[in-house]
Amino acid sequence: MMIHSPRGVEDILPQKVLQYQWIEKEASSLFSLYGYEEIRTPIFEKTELFHRSVGKETDTGKQMYTFLDKKGRTLSLRPEATASIVRAYLEHNIFTKSREWRVWYAGPMFRYERPQAARLREFRQIGIEVIGEGSPYLDIEVIEMALKFFERIQLTKLQIQLNSIGCKRCRPLYEKELRNSLKKDLKNLCPICQRRYQSNILRILDCKKEGCQSITRKLPPVENYLCPDCQSHFKKVKEGLRELHISFTLNPYLVRGLDYYTQTIFEIISPHLGAQNTFCAGGRYNDLVEELGGPPVPAIGFSIGEERLLLALRKEKESSLPQISPPVYIIIIGEENYKWGYKIANSLRSKKIKTKINFSFKSLSSQLKEANREKVQWVVIIGQEEVQKKKVIFRNMDSGKQWEVLWKEIDKFSKKIGS
Ligand SMILES: [Zn+2]
Ligand SMILES: [Zn+2]
Repeated sequence: MMIHSPRGVEDILPQKVLQYQWIEKEASSLFSLYGYEEIRTPIFEKTELFHRSVGKETDTGKQMYTFLDKKGRTLSLRPEATASIVRAYLEHNIFTKSREWRVWYAGPMFRYERPQAARLREFRQIGIEVIGEGSPYLDIEVIEMALKFFERIQLTKLQIQLNSIGCKRCRPLYEKELRNSLKKDLKNLCPICQRRYQSNILRILDCKKEGCQSITRKLPPVENYLCPDCQSHFKKVKEGLRELHISFTLNPYLVRGLDYYTQTIFEIISPHLGAQNTFCAGGRYNDLVEELGGPPVPAIGFSIGEERLLLALRKEKESSLPQISPPVYIIIIGEENYKWGYKIANSLRSKKIKTKINFSFKSLSSQLKEANREKVQWVVIIGQEEVQKKKVIFRNMDSGKQWEVLWKEIDKFSKKIGS
C-alpha cells in the first residue's frame, strides 16, 4: 500500500520551491540593505525555552510538537523563531560585543493546528529580530521595511493594524480592569475565552466569535491605561508612520497570541485571505531577553507566513510569480552518438543555457513527442548525418521552424535562445 504524507504537512514541488526561493531572496537582499544578517537556528530546542518565552498556556505553547529523546530529555520542534534567536543572542554573548543585533531568518516552524488553506502543521516563516534597541523610531523603520518588502514582490493590497499593549508596569492595570469588567459576563463568553480569562485575559479581545465581540467591544481600550512612557512611545510611532505617509488602522483590540509582547504590536492583513487574513505580525518584546536570563535589553521583530503570503500573491497577481523555464532538450539518434550529445550540451551550458539530454535513444518522433509533453521550447537534434557534417538541428517547438547550425557556430546561435 502507498504511504501518504502525515496530515498537515505538504511536499513543495519544484514550481513552488522557485516561488519560496524568490521571496526569500528578495527578503535577504532587502533586509541586508537595512543592516540585517541571516541567522539559522536549530529546528528543535529544549521545551523549557518555549515554555519560558512563548508561554505554556498560550495557543502556540499548547500546539507544540514535544517529544523525549533517547536520554529522556524533553525537546520541542520550534513553533516560531524568536525564542531561539534570543537564546542564541545570550549563548554567544552578543550583548558584550555590540549594542544592537539585527538578524533575519527563513525556515520551517511546527504547530499542531487544525489544517486549513495556507495553515499547515509545518509552515515557513521569514522574519527579523532586532535586539538591543528600544527607540520608537526603530519600530517605524521595522514596519517601513516590511512594507518595502511587500512592495518589492508586488503585493499591494494590504492593511496595517497597530496597537500598543503597554509594558509590565501598565499592562497589569489594564488586565485588572478587564478582569473586573468581564466578571459579570464570564458565562456569556465562549469556552475558549472562559479559559483565557484565567490564563491569558488579553487574548479575549482577539476572539472572532460574535458573542464575545459584543462584550469586548464595550470594554475600555488599552490606550487609556498606558503609562506615560508607553504613551509617549506609541505617540512617536504613530506620528512617525504618518510622517512617512504609511497608512495604518488603530485597532485597540489587537493583541498577539504569544506572552512576550510589549508596547508596539502590529499585523499586516490581506483582503485576499478570508478569515485567516494575517500574513505578517510582530511587535516589541522588551522583557523577553531578561526573562530568558540575559540583560534587560529591549527588542522587536516580525514574522511573515510564507504560505499565506504566496497565497495572497497568487490571488493578486499570479503572473508576478516566477515560473520554471524548460531546458533545451537534446535528442540523440543512435546510441553511438551519445558523446556528441555531451559535447553540445556542455557548450550550451557554458553559455548558461539549461540543457537536458534524452538518453532513451528512441526514434526521433517519439523523442519529439516527449519534448512536447514537457513543454520544451527548443530541441537540438543530433543524428548520424549531423555528426558527419559537424552540425546540429535546432528546432523551435512553438513555431516548428528548424535551423541547421555548425558546431562552431553554436555559441553564436545560442544567443537566439537566450536563457
Ligand atoms: Zn507602560
Ligand atoms: Zn471567545
